[in-house]
Amino acid sequence: MTLDLPVTEAPAKTLPDAQTVTEVKHWTDSLFSFRVTRPASLRFRSGEFVMIGLPGDNGKPILRAYSIASPNWDDELEFYSIKVPDGPLTSRLQHIKPGDQIILRPKPVGTLVLDALLPGKRLWFLATGTGIAPFASLMRDPETYERYEQVVMMHTCRTAEELVYGAELVDNLRHDPLLAEMYGEDFAKRLLYYPTTTREQSPFMGRITDNLTSGKVLTDLNLPPISPETDRAMICGSLAFNVDVKAVLEGFGLHEGANSDPREFVVEKAFVGEGV
Ligand code: FAD
Repeated sequence: MTLDLPVTEAPAKTLPDAQTVTEVKHWTDSLFSFRVTRPASLRFRSGEFVMIGLPGDNGKPILRAYSIASPNWDDELEFYSIKVPDGPLTSRLQHIKPGDQIILRPKPVGTLVLDALLPGKRLWFLATGTGIAPFASLMRDPETYERYEQVVMMHTCRTAEELVYGAELVDNLRHDPLLAEMYGEDFAKRLLYYPTTTREQSPFMGRITDNLTSGKVLTDLNLPPISPETDRAMICGSLAFNVDVKAVLEGFGLHEGANSDPREFVVEKAFVGEGV
């Protein structure tokens, strides 16, 4: 006699360090953002990055560095990603949907943290492309406004549509009732935003380096000259961008710092490779 045992469904195979995707938003053909569950034990400083990925065909995970774009108080984690055609990870990551799982190694690191800078009056966030991700975290962290009177977000992309993720984020922050309650109705004046494009015509154009050296950004935002006494900066872009902006800041008398040696500015790569 054979027994007809009920067939029990095998539990969904869980990846090691798996987190569940809760939301995905596509901003352009080459940019998307997504949110995932946050491991209960994960503590990080706004501005840090972690390794995330998906299992490869051979079972070995394909992992890449990703800045956490959400602030450290958020229950979930947000990421802002490029879609590299034929990129080992992003050619697949761009197809994730809510309910899917990704791998997230819960070991945050990075230099774009408030502790790596000396106290100052004004904090500049200088980013190209997805380099805005760590600043999306820091702009949403009230500690940034506890430490600095003014924050200036300079973001440069090739086209205007590539700026929309950052523009919406800044707009939401400027109208955030909680921040207005904490810092007063003129909070919007404390978060200055200077988006520029390099290829497409837009109200503000040009490279961050040019707008800093010419002083155009200072004139447009009605700010005093950049000085090592008052100004601090964080840089996140391609290798070439980082090198160029670093030289500009050094020209203003600012010095590069690190977690172990806080100074006037810090730098992190937005990706490895030459890029745009
Ligand atoms: P890869 O083989 O990794 O890259 C292929 C080529 O695509 C690179 O050689 C480079 O020329 C170009 N490229 C890679 N990433 C980018 C990018 N972000 N913008 C423009 N060109 C790029 N990427 C994000 O999208 N969001 C992040 O928040 C982010 N944070 C990072 C933080 C650090 C510290 C570092 C080092 C990298 C970060 N990256 C980020 C890049 C990321 O690690 C991957 O390179 C990217 O996801 C592409 O992976 P891939 O396997 O598809 O292609």
